[in-house]
Amino acid sequence: MKGLMMHRPLKIADLITFAAENYPSGEIVSVRTEGDIHRTTYLETSKRVARLAHGLRRLGVKEGDRIATLAWNGYRHFELYYGVSGIGAVCHTINPRLSAEQMIYIVNHADDRLLFVDLTFVPIIEKLREQLPQGLRIVVLTDRAHMPETTLDGVLCYEEILDGETDSIDWPDFPEDQAAGLCYTSGTTGHPKGTLYTHRSTVLHAFNMCVTIPKTLCEGTRILPVVPLFHVNAWGLPYGAPLSGAGLIFPGGALDGKSVFDLMDREKVFSAWGVPTVWLGLMNEINQRGRLPEGFGDIVVGGSAAPRSLIEAFETKGINVCHAWGMTEMSPLGTQCNLPPQLQQLPLEERLDRKQSQGRRVFGVDMKIVDDAGNRLPHDGKVSGHLYVRGNTVTSGYFENPEASKEVFDAEGWFCTGDVAAIDADGFLKITDRSKDLIKSGGEWISSLDLENIVMSHPGVAGCAVIAVPDPKWDERPLLIVQARDDAQPRKQELIDLLAVRVAKWQLPDDVVFVEALPLTATGKVSKLTLRKTYAEDME
Ligand code: AMP
Repeated sequence: MKGLMMHRPLKIADLITFAAENYPSGEIVSVRTEGDIHRTTYLETSKRVARLAHGLRRLGVKEGDRIATLAWNGYRHFELYYGVSGIGAVCHTINPRLSAEQMIYIVNHADDRLLFVDLTFVPIIEKLREQLPQGLRIVVLTDRAHMPETTLDGVLCYEEILDGETDSIDWPDFPEDQAAGLCYTSGTTGHPKGTLYTHRSTVLHAFNMCVTIPKTLCEGTRILPVVPLFHVNAWGLPYGAPLSGAGLIFPGGALDGKSVFDLMDREKVFSAWGVPTVWLGLMNEINQRGRLPEGFGDIVVGGSAAPRSLIEAFETKGINVCHAWGMTEMSPLGTQCNLPPQLQQLPLEERLDRKQSQGRRVFGVDMKIVDDAGNRLPHDGKVSGHLYVRGNTVTSGYFENPEASKEVFDAEGWFCTGDVAAIDADGFLKITDRSKDLIKSGGEWISSLDLENIVMSHPGVAGCAVIAVPDPKWDERPLLIVQARDDAQPRKQELIDLLAVRVAKWQLPDDVVFVEALPLTATGKVSKLTLRKTYAEDME
């Protein structure tokens, strides 16, 4: 028997309407590319979003059209999230750190109609213009006074699209599985692949965030998304914040430790979200100044494993660390490691053991681990296997890419994350490696993540990576690559000795290489692909 409740499709635009009605003065603060600070509210933003939606329609944007952005974190980018999806079009966020080749591929593959760019990125588009779709129109995210001199033809000014439009709108109805957002993963091999989010998956993800990270996502807190709007929707913050009433502080393009510290201090940011590299930079700054930014209480760290030493540094200064795991293909939140009160009371070392894990799954994301043959493995915290997920916020296939889609689902329809993990009886997930990053030495696995974590605890180490290099006897052996801190000169033997206390002798790296700077991927993670190309070419 069917139930008798109304069915209202879940729609993204309803989030901003909700925020405007419930938290009209909730603040959005942005460091602008024009160089100043801009302040607005959810009420004002909802009005500008309505004007943008009308303006987009005037430009001929229809349901299903892909509208691209190449922009930092700021209020105009946020408005596009809502204005574009609100009228049933698809907001396609592009990562400006991608190579020219990848960017050209993505814009052509997505067949974008409009491309909204920050002032900073106009020169990139000038260079690529010839290789982008003919009909693509470029809009610069600024006002008339700041429009740049450019070689681009027919370029439009963002503020002029809004000018003269009315500031209210009846959002159109469409099914909740209508496409709303598109984000390509940079991928380790082949072309980038697009994850196409729906209104339903996005709204459910916003609920999930608010339920699982409630102390951060609540009315009146101030959150700094250092994680970019071009990377998996800034982990869902543009949706979770308006739903919960939290304010957003957008940092623009300056993401070094000093800039982040100054912004957090000035704007009394409570919670800041980003990848470990950013927090290492901030911790340096905190140590140099001998104090925390005012109002600071919490970080959410994900995108790659948070080193134990990093978690410890923040926790011992009274900052709650929420270690989270997810993927572009998962919207992205899969698990989060805020501890319940009884575990928060644990002695530091035990608390760190817990926090080093990626935490427990959010509702609606099911997880299983399997062996090479696909057999399920127990959730005993000891055995690790290939991690698969399924759920309402997980992709069901890549955008217009059946070949890539075929490779990532098992016979039961679960999505293969490419991560290797253990899950314990309390539901805590521990990522031990990426499948490709594991090292198989003499038939035994060595976890690169475990070794990296230990090396990161050395005070002279700014960053490190362990990769497999081919070995005639053992098949593969671990190689440690280290970026030292500015003023430090850690010695090889010191690092090996540090490891030797914690891991078996056969797991110790055969060699240590020091580099000026570790290569980073477009999303700010250490690029093991690049390192493998340099140090282990034969394996590729
Ligand atoms: P992306 O889709 O670019 O966000 O990359 C997703 C991948 O990043 C995951 O499959 C993991 O390999 C890695 N990752 C994300 N968060 C974590 C984490 N907290 N710990 C370890 N690996 C992570």
